[in-house]
Amino acid sequence: MIIKYKFPIIMFLVFEIIAITLWLELDNLFYLFNFSYIGICITMGLFLNIKRFRYARLVVQLGVGLYMLVYLGVICHENMMIEGFWYYLFLGVFQSAVIHYIVAKICGPFIFGRGWCGYACWTAMILDLLPYKIPQYSRKKLGFIKYVLFILSLTFVGTVFFLRIPNLEKVMFWSFVIGNLLYYTVGIILAFLFKDNRAFCKYICPITVFLKPASYFSMLRVKCDKEKCINCGKCKRICPMNVDMINNDRKRINGTECILCTNCIVECPQKALYI
Ligand code: SF4
Ligand code: SF4
Ligand code: SF4
Repeated sequence: MIIKYKFPIIMFLVFEIIAITLWLELDNLFYLFNFSYIGICITMGLFLNIKRFRYARLVVQLGVGLYMLVYLGVICHENMMIEGFWYYLFLGVFQSAVIHYIVAKICGPFIFGRGWCGYACWTAMILDLLPYKIPQYSRKKLGFIKYVLFILSLTFVGTVFFLRIPNLEKVMFWSFVIGNLLYYTVGIILAFLFKDNRAFCKYICPITVFLKPASYFSMLRVKCDKEKCINCGKCKRICPMNVDMINNDRKRINGTECILCTNCIVECPQKALYI
């Protein structure tokens, strides 16, 4: 029983520890609310996933994604995109965007891999609503694009910062708005072009440059009980990220792409997969 609920319990504890630590350390109640809200949403989604509520993950993704996009981004003017991370890093300010990146995208993946991509990302919350939940084709060799965009984002912020362009806060806010519109447009076009909702995640998203290395070592990962597996291949057919999850080796194909959606676990007829 406890094994079955290990994933949600660990996620809840991780987020509560972060919420309480940041609240006390930075003397700011916002962090208690922020990380508790995200942690509770994700935990509930994971419990409901286990109970086979079909849309649980999508609802959680919308709950967390909309909160971050609308409340933090649009209302509070916090640029939580990668440009915002570089910007606050250059300013030497240890606040929301930097903390967000450290927790969700740089250190957190050592524990929960790419859980951010499965339960919280506001770009994927829209892309996952498109018709191609199961990729129709094999992966293209376009993964290099994300590295180019990663360098471009750093160059963009470095340039506006060192040129001391006036109204930098405003520039960063509008880069957040325009950047998101571009992400949604490109993501939707690619999803239809490649018949794959997650094409943007696979080829374009620069954040994966942070996410992938730590995810390789992720404590929480899908594993296969070889005694039970009958090699029917269903899990691999339905995986949105083309992961070879029946291979337990960390070097398995697309191992750092798993978004912990648990689709393979839920659909395995032999109950051979687990986290
Ligand atoms: S890969 Fe990028 S766009 Fe896709 S879910 Fe992760 S952070 Fe979001
Ligand atoms: S769906 Fe289950 S039984 Fe079939 S290959 Fe995957 S792990 Fe094995
Ligand atoms: S289907 Fe399984 S291996 Fe594929 S992303 Fe979801 S949890 Fe990971």
